Amino acid sequence: MDFSVSEEHQMLLDSADKIARDFPRDYYIECAKTKTFPKEQWAALAEAGFLGINTPVEYGGAGLGMLELVLLQERLAEHGVAPLFFVVNQGIAVPSISRHGTPEQKERWLPAIASGEKRCCFAITEPNAGTNTFKIQTVARDEGEHFVLNGNKLFISGIGDAHQVLVVARTSTGGDGARPGLTLLVVDTDADGLTWDPMDTMVSHAEHQYFVYFDEVKVPKANVLGKIDGGIDVLFDALNPERMVVAAGAIGGGRHVLQRGVDYANEREIFKGPIGAYQGLQHPMSEAKALLEAASLMIQKAAWLHDSGKHSKVVGDCANMGKMVGTDAAFKAADAALQCFGGYGFTESYDMLSHFITARLGKVAPINREMTLNYIGEYILGLPKSY
Ligand SMILES: Cc1cc2nc3c(=O)[nH]c(=O)nc-3n(C[C@H](O)[C@H](O)[C@H](O)COP(=O)(O)OP(=O)(O)OC[C@H]3O[C@@H](n4cnc5c(N)ncnc54)[C@H](O)[C@@H]3O)c2cc1C
Repeated sequence: MDFSVSEEHQMLLDSADKIARDFPRDYYIECAKTKTFPKEQWAALAEAGFLGINTPVEYGGAGLGMLELVLLQERLAEHGVAPLFFVVNQGIAVPSISRHGTPEQKERWLPAIASGEKRCCFAITEPNAGTNTFKIQTVARDEGEHFVLNGNKLFISGIGDAHQVLVVARTSTGGDGARPGLTLLVVDTDADGLTWDPMDTMVSHAEHQYFVYFDEVKVPKANVLGKIDGGIDVLFDALNPERMVVAAGAIGGGRHVLQRGVDYANEREIFKGPIGAYQGLQHPMSEAKALLEAASLMIQKAAWLHDSGKHSKVVGDCANMGKMVGTDAAFKAADAALQCFGGYGFTESYDMLSHFITARLGKVAPINREMTLNYIGEYILGLPKSY
């Protein structure tokens, strides 16, 4: 077992540092506030070859894997500038298309994602289904050569700046206790009948959330990813990478916010000496640091297992546990750091609350903490299903 950082990985991290210095958090937050896609940062990421980091070489990518994507996201997040598109585009769409796409589909979508010309977002969440994916009501009606999509999604990140959306839809009803058949379709965002409105989520990401409406949207059958009614197989392969990228972003973000707390606590003097000497502030930060580093190892292991082609159950175990401990650690870091700032933590100019909200979000989305505990209880510990 070798934990040293390879020369190749060091170059990746150095390059991520440079991009983050060129497009720092102030830039990213300004984009978030003005609801502007961070196109200069995206161009720099494309230029560095990072948008195709986990795309196979034959489709224009670097042919690296989840480990490199996780390292990259963790490092960008350490600077407070991790793109949410890395979760849905590189984290969900690329692994799904690479593993389940036909050669024609890979040729059609992957090179454009790797070059940065196109972006794909992901739409599963619905008002009446939420965590229970099998309750979704968006229906894809079979009309021979194509499907016709009808339904609503919400919280869809980045659709306003995406060229394709990977949609989860029902293609058969189930019934008699059987689950409905779900199918994944890649839909062009300029398709007739597809519209969206912004949501008022208060998270500091440059990628925004939207209500999305499908009204008689025609989708060619050539755009079905995987098998008709076999969307769950694609989802299983897609959601583990998603969890890894989310955890990496949380861990990096946790390091970033913790450093802010440490810097402030080393400077601020109220009684005798800097407030960082108080154990009431110091110990929670120390605890968060230890948890962040442990979570980082866990998520790198998940990514390594994924890249080594290990059985998906083992990958899922590490991805779920890593996502849970990573986002928990990030929340502890944000909470401990915020405490150091006293009242200033609640001012806009100190930009601390945005970290707190982002860290708290990790306990809810893209998968809530309780569902990761359900997974651990049921699939790792062998306890009865609770819901
Ligand atoms: C900023 C942001 C970005 C997002 N981006 C996307 C996106 O790009 N694409 C997309 O499709 N969705 C996206 N989502 C949606 C997100 O994935 C959902 O909000 C999340 O899956 C939870 O669904 P829900 O909000 O309907 O909560 P619900 O399903 O109503 O759950 C509410 C709460 O109940 C608890 N709970 C639910 N089920 C169980 C259970 N079985 N056992 C125990 N407790 C349970 C959990 O604590 C959960 O937080 C985003 C959300 C946010 C806030």
